[in-house]
Amino acid sequence: MTKQLQAIRGMNDILPEQTPVWRYVEDAVRGLLGRYGYQELRVPVVEFTSLFARGIGEHTDVVEKEMYTFSDRNNESLTLRPEATAGCVRAGIQHGLFYNQIQRLWTMGPMFRYEKPQKGRYRQFHQISVETYGMAGPDIDAELILMTAALWRDLGLADKVTLELNTLGSSEARARYRDGLVDYLKAHENGLDEDSKRRLTTNPLRVLDSKDESTRRILEGAPLLHDFLDEESRGQFEQLRAILDRAGIEYVVNQKLVRGLDYYNKTVFEWVTDALGSQGTVCGGGRYDGLVEQLGGKAVPACGFAMGIERLVLLLETLNLVPDTVHSPVDAIIIPMGNVLPYAMTVAEQLRASPARPRVLMSCGGGSLKSQMKRADKSGAALALIVGEDEAEKGLVTVKYLREEKAQEACTPEDVLALLAV
Ligand code: ATP
Ligand code: MG
Repeated sequence: MTKQLQAIRGMNDILPEQTPVWRYVEDAVRGLLGRYGYQELRVPVVEFTSLFARGIGEHTDVVEKEMYTFSDRNNESLTLRPEATAGCVRAGIQHGLFYNQIQRLWTMGPMFRYEKPQKGRYRQFHQISVETYGMAGPDIDAELILMTAALWRDLGLADKVTLELNTLGSSEARARYRDGLVDYLKAHENGLDEDSKRRLTTNPLRVLDSKDESTRRILEGAPLLHDFLDEESRGQFEQLRAILDRAGIEYVVNQKLVRGLDYYNKTVFEWVTDALGSQGTVCGGGRYDGLVEQLGGKAVPACGFAMGIERLVLLLETLNLVPDTVHSPVDAIIIPMGNVLPYAMTVAEQLRASPARPRVLMSCGGGSLKSQMKRADKSGAALALIVGEDEAEKGLVTVKYLREEKAQEACTPEDVLALLAV
């Protein structure tokens, strides 16, 4: 017997029973971004490997060990995108989108990282990525945060997620801090875990993220990032906080929040929840003023964030926050009994074409009334429209209410539309 085919580990099918929740989240985000005047950009899923190596940073976890990289038939090294920002910057430079222009962009789709699959962490996952260009902040930084806060309100998540906020300062301030941190950590090197020892030379700020007990104890005495900040970054951070305070957005300033990718400077933030175990970050972002220039464009300030759709879906499901209506795919189902298909299918077309655009399912494949009524119940429809030869002759349907105690009645298709409109 041949072995049954399986999807690649960590790459999930999203089944028809799950897609309604995904669409609920995606539609909420699309609506939100529209209200703030953001435009959609779609970029390829595959790019040259060098784009990510240069953009994200050679010594980040993503580039060091998580990329899906392969050679194509022409021996070019290509990579399945692990995130969207580098591709958006590449597209913006290539098409002149940044030339004396302000851009508010978003993109949505699959990302790929070779990580250890677990709840909330997959090898193919999906992000909504929002990227802005040409604005130095703090206004746009605040807008991005206010926008995400509005999304949590729309989805009923406002009191389920908390905002962590930090500023990394200018790249010079960050470099000075890096030196200070390395000096301190070198003096305590023996107590560090192996990963942190390695990062000491490659990406020392990431040591701040370590979950290792001994390393964390050492970090308690480490120099603080905010003692190294430049005046401009400090002032900008205060302005950002003033906007958030006035808007009633609560946050925790977390000086150890540095984010995983190399390109961040100044503002960084994460929205985290404690309802998903250790995969608690649902949205993360910040400012990346150096990236456009680093990838070959003219220097342009930039700020953005990415959120993981899997984690949002999981959070809504875990907290039972998905409205029931999300799961009902149809409003009515037509049940033909006897030799009535020409009439029944015409009625179905007529209903679907009406301005109210009701969702009408045709019970195809025949069967007894009993088996078709079972099908009707499973469909989620509110109304079953039974069409027998008698109804077909008179131009009627028999309406059976599937979700309420109400006697069945004979109706014209126009009556049915009125019923569906309420
Ligand atoms: P984490 O700390 O959870 O590894 P990250 O810093 O690597 O996150 P980003 O690269 O900033 O994450 O991606 C933004 C968001 O995308 C995360 O907050 C998370 O919601 C989601 N995300 C990242 N990696 C994965 C993954 N492997 N599976 C599912 N969602 C993910
Ligand atoms: Mg990660």
